[in-house]
Amino acid sequence: MRDPIRLNPIAPLVEKARTYFRSDVTRPYEFRRERLRALEASMRLHEPEVFGALKADLGKSVYEAYPAEVGLVYVDLKHALKHLKDWMKPVGRSLPMTFWPGTGLQVPEPLGTALIISPWNYPFQLGTSPLVGAIAAGCNLVLKPSELAPATSAVLEKVLRHAFGDDGYVTVVHGGPETSQQLLAEKWDVIFFTGSTRVGQIVMEAASKHLTPVILELGGKSPCLVDRDADLETTARRIMWGKTYNAGQTCIGPDYALVHQAVKQRFVEACQQAVKGFYGDDPKQSRDYARIISTRHLQRLTTLMKGGRVAFGGTSDEAQKYLEPTVLVDVDLASPLMNEEIFGPMLPVVEVGSMDEAIDFVRARPKPLALYAFTSSSETADRILARTSSGGAMVNDVLLHIASGMPFGGVGPSGMGSYHGKASFDAFTHHKTVVKKPWALDLKVRYPPYTVSIEVFRKLLG
Ligand code: NAD
Repeated sequence: MRDPIRLNPIAPLVEKARTYFRSDVTRPYEFRRERLRALEASMRLHEPEVFGALKADLGKSVYEAYPAEVGLVYVDLKHALKHLKDWMKPVGRSLPMTFWPGTGLQVPEPLGTALIISPWNYPFQLGTSPLVGAIAAGCNLVLKPSELAPATSAVLEKVLRHAFGDDGYVTVVHGGPETSQQLLAEKWDVIFFTGSTRVGQIVMEAASKHLTPVILELGGKSPCLVDRDADLETTARRIMWGKTYNAGQTCIGPDYALVHQAVKQRFVEACQQAVKGFYGDDPKQSRDYARIISTRHLQRLTTLMKGGRVAFGGTSDEAQKYLEPTVLVDVDLASPLMNEEIFGPMLPVVEVGSMDEAIDFVRARPKPLALYAFTSSSETADRILARTSSGGAMVNDVLLHIASGMPFGGVGPSGMGSYHGKASFDAFTHHKTVVKKPWALDLKVRYPPYTVSIEVFRKLLG
């Protein structure tokens, strides 16, 4: 890959972006609307190239690429275009009596020039989705996509170039951790990072030097809690769909399952049936099953596999970066398998005696990005939701909450801040509190020397 640092040193590029923002062209409604439309048009024009690149980087089927890589962004774009005018309006606020005849407003203003850093697993969507919020909010930005999905990162740049040109509004910088750190050393008005918890810490530390606000969309181990009263076939089908979607390389993918001991064996069998139904006897031959991003990541996964006994699956092929959908039982809870984010198509199944035991298991570990509860009892579902904390949660399904239009994000080590829908606009916006006062009624009691009794203040302020 070419070395863009030498071609395009970071500091002048950041200065160009800052100058662009200071020109104030990004603020008007019409500018934002036209840029959102331009993004959508360019995405639609380049769709075949996007899908081709995703196939090259991840072996991703178009049936996964369309909904998860572009469809989700179209939904965000449509929503932003529909509501942008309303979102941009200052919101009137009622003020305490003591402010009369003043007026209160909350005025949304763009934070400024944003830095967006994205990962490789949904390399197109995670590069473009945050952009929708940034554009809608009136920001401009520099985007650093992942170096590990080079074909998609190249098409992403092409799509954005076609939509926006190269004048400092949207700038793409390619490179790995070193480039990322050079970018992080600069002063930004907001940083939007999607990636691992480990790098999230590096980003936050860098941001703290300039007191830059951060949105961190991180990962973690998202558990599935399966009670004895769950519809096991549907549960297994939904969990294994989420586990094998993009070959398990999904931030909100089910990481492991805590299954009631009374149904564990049947659950494992149902998982095997589900996988067979999806991909046939040999998933390697299925055009619908994705590949692991690199042989290094594949080796990491096959090493993690040693933390349990293979109930089914378990084969791999380095030449093809292929890992068979796998379920593991007799899991060693102290092993890396149960302590690192798996991020691959392997599901460890851990037996529990009750859902309360499962709840305690989850609570003893870092707060996950997603939690999935499978039960026919709404009381059990409510108890699980009330007693656990996670970025998001679903009852009786997986993954789909990301497409609900509701705010999406983590909590604690799985992230901070959220986006999608209106939350995307808010992520890049500062809601400025403004109070306007007329000249009239300049009550003298507020000024020294203070002469009235303190009781007057008590009456006014309560
Ligand atoms: P990563 O943290 O390794 O890399 C993410 C980005 O950070 C890349 O652009 C990379 O170049 C850069 N980077 C890597 N090392 C760096 C360093 N030392 N200093 C500065 N920048 C660095 O993550 P990844 O492997 O690309 O993606 C997988 C992770 O992302 C998983 O943990 C997954 O859960 C998480 N993820 C989260 C979400 C979400 O929405 N919450 C979505 C997708 C992925």
